[in-house]
Amino acid sequence: MQLRKSFQIEAAHRLPRVPVGHKCGRLHGHSFIVEVVVEGPVDPNLGWVMDYADIKAAFRPLYDLLDHNCLNDIPGLENPTSESLASWIWTHLKPALPLLTEIAIAETCTSRCVYKGPASS
Ligand SMILES: [Zn+2]
Repeated sequence: MQLRKSFQIEAAHRLPRVPVGHKCGRLHGHSFIVEVVVEGPVDPNLGWVMDYADIKAAFRPLYDLLDHNCLNDIPGLENPTSESLASWIWTHLKPALPLLTEIAIAETCTSRCVYKGPASS
C-alpha cells in the first residue's frame, strides 16, 4: 500500500550552471510542491501503513530549512535543480522515514520531477 503526502515550500533559487542569459540563471521563486511517498504493509490492527502525522513530523526539519529560504544557500543545494532537490530531500529524509520510496518535486503546475532513490536501494 502506498501513501502520498504533499507539502508546499516557498523558496527562491537560481541555477548557476545554465548558459548565460537563460531565465533560470536569474534569482526567482517557486511554490514547490514536495510529495513524499511511502510504501508498506497495512497494519492489520491499526488499518493503516503509518500515521500521516509521522510523515509530517519526519519532514518538518527539512521544511524548516527550505521554506522561505534561498535554496542556493543550503549546503548540498548549490545547484538547486528539482532533480538535486529531490535527491537532497531523499538523503536527509530516508533515515527518519525508512518506508520512503519516492520524492516528487513540482516547481510549476506543469513540471514535476520524480525520484525513486539511488539504484542500489
Ligand atoms: Zn526555478
